[in-house]
Amino acid sequence: MAVWDDLVGQDRVIEQLAAAARDADALVTAEAAPGGPGPGGASKMTHAWLFTGPPGSGRATAARAFAAALQCVSPDRASGGPGCGFCDGCHTALVGTHADVEVVRTDVLSIGVKETRDLVRRAQLSPAGGRWQVIVLEDADRLTEGAGNVLLKAVEEPAPRTVWLLCAPSLEDVLPTIRSRCRSLTLRTPPVGAVADILVRRDGIEPELADRAARATQGHIGRARRLATDERARARRAAVLKMPLRVADMGGALKAAQELIDAASEDAKQVAEEVDTKETEELRAALGAAAGTGGRLPRGTAGAMKELQDRQKRRATRTQRDSLDLALTDLTGFYRDVLAIQLGSRVELANTDARADLERIAAGSRPEATLRRIEAIVACRQALDRNVAPLLAVEAMAVALRAG
Ligand SMILES: [Zn+2]
Repeated sequence: MAVWDDLVGQDRVIEQLAAAARDADALVTAEAAPGGPGPGGASKMTHAWLFTGPPGSGRATAARAFAAALQCVSPDRASGGPGCGFCDGCHTALVGTHADVEVVRTDVLSIGVKETRDLVRRAQLSPAGGRWQVIVLEDADRLTEGAGNVLLKAVEEPAPRTVWLLCAPSLEDVLPTIRSRCRSLTLRTPPVGAVADILVRRDGIEPELADRAARATQGHIGRARRLATDERARARRAAVLKMPLRVADMGGALKAAQELIDAASEDAKQVAEEVDTKETEELRAALGAAAGTGGRLPRGTAGAMKELQDRQKRRATRTQRDSLDLALTDLTGFYRDVLAIQLGSRVELANTDARADLERIAAGSRPEATLRRIEAIVACRQALDRNVAPLLAVEAMAVALRAG
């Protein structure tokens, strides 16, 4: 069925979701029938699902596809299975305008108690369309412990037609009490060929570029698409891959570190420019800032404005961190290729476009040194996770990447 088309290389997961959507549909139909539902068999449908899988495997895509299938109203759904992709239910769920599908995506580092409480309250409402009230929580790993406990109560005792779809990188990222109450689905990293294929088929990207982007991002669909369609992303990646050649001396290492940080700040600034101003204006209007009085805010609304500013600041931090993370991923991929060349391994290289540089670094050092460099990148990641100042962490890494 069409709603599953964007899920790349996940046949087993699709099978389970399709079966659950079918049972869910039968349940709704039976309840609507005179006399109510008969004695049903074991249903494959349940109220709480947990989608895990490595970044880029399509967790959120899978959750949204399932949400759409649950809302499918195609007259053919009994024969072909729900999830046609074209009926009003499927279509609005997929584009994000369905009244009974709420997708929660956060651009800050954590989801707090207050937001979660609001969400739980909305989740208890009966579905306007009479089918399911679906909440997709794309970053369930970002719930604070308090927020997790709020959610736990809702997942334990869901309203009869409420469905929670939680997404997280791995099971360990979710509170044990919550994950034990969810049915868990694990997505795998899609094969490079399948990613290239969907870039060609869906995004109309030229096959050679699609193949290169899929290989460079090692099965991360979103990043592959970005790389194939965004010139700036390609330039950024090319710059990161030049870093190993520039860190030979201390001066070069420190300069490269500074540039990496600057690029990440630039990304954060760009996102802020695109979103912050508009958001602030909208909030001002909503709070009733009087036109013609210099836009002064009415009494007692400063708190809301402050809250927005805090949120924007947290978003900037996260954008910067994501951008750095991406650079570190590319850098790890580079040294992994170097190692493959040094060991004469026959795995396909991720960075075929940087082959000359890979060969040069591989010839000029030993595998042990390459391993040590990969460890330095891992250490940098861990330092960033512990909130070490980004410049310090990246400088330490750049220095450790030097020859030797
Ligand atoms: Zn449909």
